Amino acid sequence: MTETTTPTSSNFIRTIIDEDNETGKYDRRVHTRFPPEPNGYLHIGHAKSINLNYGLARDYGGLFNLRFDDTNPEKEEQEYIDAIMEDVRWLGAEWDGRLYHASDYFEQLYQWAEQLINDGKAYVDDLSADEIREHRGTLTEPGRNSPWRERPVAENLDLFRRMRAGEFAEGSRVLRAKIDMASSFIVLRDPVMYRILHAPHPRTGNAWHIYPTYDWAHGQSDSIEGITHSICTLEFENNRRLYDWFQEALGIRRSQQIEFARLNLTYTVMSKRKLIRLVKEGHVNGWDDPRMWTIRGLRRRGYTPEGIRNFTDMIGVSKANSLVDMALLEHAVREDLNARTPRVMGVVEPLKVVIENYPKGQEEAFEVPYYKQDKSRTESRPIPFSREVYIERDDFMEEPAKGYNRLAPEVEVRLMNAYYIVCTGVVKDAAGRIVELRAVYDPASRGGQSPDNRKVKGTIHWVSAEHAIPAEVRLYEPLFAKANPEEGVDDFVENLNPDSLRVVDALVEPSLATAVPGDKFQFVREGYFCVDPDTEPGRLVFNRTVGLKDTWR
Ligand code: ATP
Ligand code: MG
Repeated sequence: MTETTTPTSSNFIRTIIDEDNETGKYDRRVHTRFPPEPNGYLHIGHAKSINLNYGLARDYGGLFNLRFDDTNPEKEEQEYIDAIMEDVRWLGAEWDGRLYHASDYFEQLYQWAEQLINDGKAYVDDLSADEIREHRGTLTEPGRNSPWRERPVAENLDLFRRMRAGEFAEGSRVLRAKIDMASSFIVLRDPVMYRILHAPHPRTGNAWHIYPTYDWAHGQSDSIEGITHSICTLEFENNRRLYDWFQEALGIRRSQQIEFARLNLTYTVMSKRKLIRLVKEGHVNGWDDPRMWTIRGLRRRGYTPEGIRNFTDMIGVSKANSLVDMALLEHAVREDLNARTPRVMGVVEPLKVVIENYPKGQEEAFEVPYYKQDKSRTESRPIPFSREVYIERDDFMEEPAKGYNRLAPEVEVRLMNAYYIVCTGVVKDAAGRIVELRAVYDPASRGGQSPDNRKVKGTIHWVSAEHAIPAEVRLYEPLFAKANPEEGVDDFVENLNPDSLRVVDALVEPSLATAVPGDKFQFVREGYFCVDPDTEPGRLVFNRTVGLKDTWR
């Protein structure tokens, strides 16, 4: 079997790690983490981050943590936590028992906040959120100090403890770091560390009335876990100043934030807010709709973790934002499926052919290997053949266009692995639609072998009418009609493609009767298909994962 993994190429993050290993900055340790906020399902962009973080830990013999950044109890749900763990595991990233939550550190973070207060580096501010914003200044103007900035340490401590105890109303006070209201980095203008929130938390229940901000929780969580390289997306570049400031002010174990460009992919929207809209407004059938680029959507569609890994290896990491073509993701997945899937015959849009010189009631079977692409595998199955077969509707043209190499009146083609046939007649219904073809076969061409070296126009696939089993096949087009879903509209849902799902009644070879959800196949000449979980006894459902070739415009 051909291995499809691309050798992991170097990148600027590996260069940094190599240097750190040389200087002994972290005693040659490499420890990464993936820190999702449990407020939605993971998507292909997260897969880039997971594969990057896990891949670095794996390649450097280091460690990888999964950490839920669960600092905002209002938007977080257990459903998302469970789904994220399932998806990360499915992608192949193993955290080996190192599953953590920012909420595990609430007490330590609280103690560290008191330490900063005691050191004169944090204060309780009574300004409202709006007032804080007004005082913050702009990119061109410095901010102004809050009137509460010079509160004595004892008063700050007292107020902060009472904030924790739940004595004050939401929004009435915050804890802020005392840094520099004139800093050219707005994130350093006395950022908020804690806000009051009388909301129960999925893990800590009603224990807390204050919750840490992302900036206050993140770097300290990294430090507690011994993370060495804290990899995040570019929009956190400025936050790095604050990340460093907190760790330095506390005098705790250091870690290094490194930013990379997030994945942007054509025909997708990545923000959770938009993904939630697609689901809630019913534009798709749930988070795992195979048209979605959520990990569960891709999984249901038939994508493999290896295919996704090929993709993330191919695109690499960089410091510059860019837009990746969806065709590249499909290419990576197709390569993986090509190597691993058995070849079977399924007729997606069937047209009946009656072979008039094949004896009624006769049947025979052709033993056909499953893995023509892989000489090391010898599995095969018998494919039954009989007088009536179905072929693909578009493998016949009554008046063949120039260069058309399939069946047409008086034209001879090979039924794959079976016999040569010539079309001898066309049967139409009252509306003039072709409903059946008549043909004759050459008994001397058994197995699809030419008896006399004569050439045929082409080779087409088929299923025996008597033996084929019906299947529902779901064919997908991109969910959006535009490569950039935001193009030319106020609201991206206006760019939804109304034809993104087409369901057809297909016929497949009988060996597929035992297929179970998740099984993947190449339907020869048609593409890659995956058995859908909607399959039940007597109802076989397939998703077309991807076609055989790149058909993007
Ligand atoms: P939102 O949609 O609200 O911006 P998010 O996708 O950033 O949310 P998080 O749970 O905060 O969600 O993300 C977890 C990790 O995944 C972060 O480290 C983030 O940098 C990374 N990540 C998110 N989107 C992408 C993307 N498109 N490409 C690469 N990494 C991403
Ligand atoms: Mg985020």
